[in-house]
Amino acid sequence: MLKQVDYIIVGQGIAGSMIAYFLLKRGKKILVVDQYNPNASSNIAAGVVNPVTGRKMVKTWLIDEVLPFAKETYNALEMDLNLSFFFERDIYKIFSSQEDAEIWNTKKSDSEYEQYMGDIVFLDETAIKAPYGAGIIKQCCWMDVPGFTKAYRGFLLQNNDLLEEEFDFDHLDVTEGVRYKDTIAEKIIFCEGYKAYQNPFFKKIPFAFAKGEQLIIRSEHLKTDKIISRNIFIIPKGNDIYTVGSTFIWDDLEETVTDIGRKEILVKLNKIITDDYTIVDENAGIRPAMPDRRPVMGSHPDYPQIFIFNGMGTKGVSLSPYFANYFLDSIDNGIEVFREISVNRFVF
Ligand SMILES: Cc1cc2nc3c(=O)[nH]c(=O)nc-3n(C[C@H](O)[C@H](O)[C@H](O)COP(=O)(O)OP(=O)(O)OC[C@H]3O[C@@H](n4cnc5c(N)ncnc54)[C@H](O)[C@@H]3O)c2cc1C
Repeated sequence: MLKQVDYIIVGQGIAGSMIAYFLLKRGKKILVVDQYNPNASSNIAAGVVNPVTGRKMVKTWLIDEVLPFAKETYNALEMDLNLSFFFERDIYKIFSSQEDAEIWNTKKSDSEYEQYMGDIVFLDETAIKAPYGAGIIKQCCWMDVPGFTKAYRGFLLQNNDLLEEEFDFDHLDVTEGVRYKDTIAEKIIFCEGYKAYQNPFFKKIPFAFAKGEQLIIRSEHLKTDKIISRNIFIIPKGNDIYTVGSTFIWDDLEETVTDIGRKEILVKLNKIITDDYTIVDENAGIRPAMPDRRPVMGSHPDYPQIFIFNGMGTKGVSLSPYFANYFLDSIDNGIEVFREISVNRFVF
C-alpha cells in the first residue's frame, strides 16, 4: 500500500532533525530517510556555540538572532524528549600576549559586545598555562549533538516516521510530485551533510568540505567545567574526560584520523595544559562547509518540489534551528530565501 506524506527528508543529522521538528510542529506528515553513520558530522561535533571568535574578537554572523532562537528551540526539545543535551557554558579564551588582553578590553567596552565579553581572569597556572590571563566569553553553549540526534531518531522511529536505509536515487521518481519506493510526497528536502556531493540534483553546488579531527583525553588534574580555548577547544565532558579539537583539513573525504591531525592537536594542547593526560579515543568527520561560509538552501531550478538544506559548516548547532524554521516559512509562503544563503547564488 502506498504511504502519503507531505515531505520526505533525506538525512537526520542536526539539519534534517531541525527540518523534521519544524515540519511536525506545522502539522505536516513526514518520512525521514537516514542511514546511521557514526562519523557523520553531527555524531562527532564538538557542539560549541561561540558568539565571538578570532584574535580580534569578531561577532559570529547573525549571532544576536540565531542564538536566542537556538536556545528556545533546544530547551523546548529537551522538554519534549525528556533529555538534557543543551547547556550554557562560559568559554575561557586564553590570551597569547599582553596585546590580546588589550584588544579584549577595548572590544569589551563596545556596546555591541558587552553582552558576550566578560572579565579577564587569571587561572591556576599549575594546570592551565595562561600567563596573560583569559577573557570570559559569555552566552556560550555546549550541545551534546550525538545525544540529541540519537534521541530524536528514537522519537521518529517510535512514530514510524523514519526509514533506516541509504537513500537510493534509482527509486526516486519526480515526474509529478515525489515518489520514493512506496511513499508519495509533495516535496523532498535533502539534508545529507557532506554526502550531498553524491546527490545528482545538486552537483553544481561548490561545497568546501572541511574534515575535522578530535582527541578525547582523560586528565585528572585539569578539573575545569569551563570550555578552554586557544586555537583549539578543550571541552569538559565530565568524569575527567575532555574533547580536544579540532583540525581543518581540506580535500580529504576520509572519515579517519591521521598522524598529522593528531600531532597538530597535541602541539596546540601542550601549549595550554601542563598536566599529564591520556588519549582515550580519537575521531574524524567531514563538515558540510561552503566557500563563503554561509548555509545553502532552496529548490532545484527545474524541479520545484526538490529542495536542499545544507552547508551548516562549523556552526550546525547555532544555525540549524533558526534557518530550518526560516526556510520552511519561505517554502510555505512561496518566497525565496535571501540571496546570501540561497542555492541560486550558484550557477546551475
Ligand atoms: C570535528 C568536528 C567538530 C565540530 N564542532 C562543531 C561545534 O563545536 N559547533 C558546531 O556548531 N558545529 C560543529 N561541527 C559542525 C557540525 O557538526 C555540522 O555543522 C553539522 O553536524 C552538520 O549537520 P548536517 O545535518 O548538515 O550533516 P550530517 O551531520 O553529516 O548529517 C547528515 C545525515 O544524512 C545522512 N545521509 C547522507 N546521505 C544519505 C543517503 N544518501 N541516504 C541516507 N542517509 C544519508 C548521514 O548518514 C547523516 O546521518 C563540527 C564538525 C566536526 C567534523
